[in-house]
Amino acid sequence: MDFDFFVIGGGSGGVRAARIAATHGARVGIAEDRFWGGTCVNIGCVPKKFLVMAAEYGATAHDARGFGWDVNTGTHDWPALLRAKDTEIARLNGIYTGLLDKAGATIFNARARFIDAHTLDVGGQRITAHKILVATGGHPTGLDIPGAEHAIISDDAFFLPHMPKRVAIIGGGYIAVEFAGIFAGLGAETHLVYRQPLPLRGFDEDLRSGLAEALTANGVHLHPHQEPAEITLHGEARRLTLKSGSVLETDLIFFATGRAANTGDLNLAAADVKTGTQGEILVDEGFATSTPHIYAVGDVTDRLNLTPVATAQGHALADTLFGGNPRGVSLDSVPTAVFSIPPLATVGLTEAEAAAQGPVKIFISRFTPMRHTLTGRARKTLMKLVVDAATDRVLGAHMLGEDAPEIMQGLGIALTAGATKTDFDRTIGIHPTAAEEFVTMRTQTRVAGLRAAGE
Ligand code: NDP
Repeated sequence: MDFDFFVIGGGSGGVRAARIAATHGARVGIAEDRFWGGTCVNIGCVPKKFLVMAAEYGATAHDARGFGWDVNTGTHDWPALLRAKDTEIARLNGIYTGLLDKAGATIFNARARFIDAHTLDVGGQRITAHKILVATGGHPTGLDIPGAEHAIISDDAFFLPHMPKRVAIIGGGYIAVEFAGIFAGLGAETHLVYRQPLPLRGFDEDLRSGLAEALTANGVHLHPHQEPAEITLHGEARRLTLKSGSVLETDLIFFATGRAANTGDLNLAAADVKTGTQGEILVDEGFATSTPHIYAVGDVTDRLNLTPVATAQGHALADTLFGGNPRGVSLDSVPTAVFSIPPLATVGLTEAEAAAQGPVKIFISRFTPMRHTLTGRARKTLMKLVVDAATDRVLGAHMLGEDAPEIMQGLGIALTAGATKTDFDRTIGIHPTAAEEFVTMRTQTRVAGLRAAGE
């Protein structure tokens, strides 16, 4: 065999697995034909966060007036922002390949495909390996409606030649609400079209309604209970006809309607690797596919499609196979954040999920962040704890408001360690912060889940 371990895909999961396996002494090859660092570094988390930061600066400059600064925001230079973003991402691409090189992995700037269960075609070269990891990630999927070719997906949003004046985003998930903040913050008339009553299905209801209010306060036009029917061109403009019959005229239509696994080009059948109904690779708890020496991690398995999950899985797999340290990755209590404006973050169970299991005490705090007592901006922070009434364990923590992702990372440790509400209460706060509210919530807002207890 040419390699002990061959990794297909140079994204978060693949690079981590390849690097750690090589550090453990395995002979490792890794193939990537597009972006070193994958979706997150190139057309996902990293550039998205730069765009969110850019979008926040306008309002922040305006806020500074409340603190005595005489600031004029002027205009925004979109091409300058994209140039700065591209420079930083090129640097990150180099870091990724540098790390692999330093660890001793062999890098192939090529596409890989299975020939059989131990043999790959890597850019025309036949390569054999004892073990193979598929870490090819996913891609955004649009909707199959007439005129869909006139809409963009998130991959395109990072390379728009200029900022549109009017945007309609379809979907109410992570990507939709994040880009609603970006476009509205950079001055576009922004419409969010989604089929649920509130954005972010699956998140805690209080957070969802708080986010809808915050989006409206930021000037985003919300269109709940709506589904698109057709897109037509009218000169430079695009018309989005909804199933309800309403029509939105806009300059850009953006599908943020989910992602699908990148398995179409791999010739998985040649290696007898089984996929699910959406093309995702089916794996067991040890990341093994239906062919036991072939593994898969990250978005290609479509479980919890988050970069840190893919990275943790890639690391655990490399430790298991080559480091003499077999271990899995728990997907319980994975903290997550949505970089909307303001952001929201969450760890553990929502009120509805917890209440379905039994009685829970709910603590909610809603307040104007200190900064905005002087800026006058209508912005509320919302914090919420879901506590098991029987054991006092904190089952869920949720926050909408500035710094929510930074705060939730620490609370993620507390919940992973099994902290109780009493542990939260005996922790001394840091004053004056928003975060201290999580350790000073004493008044119970309500009890939920009594019906589940009765049943
Ligand atoms: P999501 O799954 O989060 O959201 C998809 C949205 O599209 C939902 O609102 C869904 O509605 C809607 N939708 C799906 N199909 C249709 C349809 N046929 N008609 C109308 N609406 C439809 O996907 P995203 O594309 O936003 O993001 C993909 C994944 O990437 C996320 O789930 C997340 O795992 C990851 N991600 C993480 C980020 C982070 O950590 N900050 C940032 C961006 C992405 P409904 O709810 O009704 O199904």
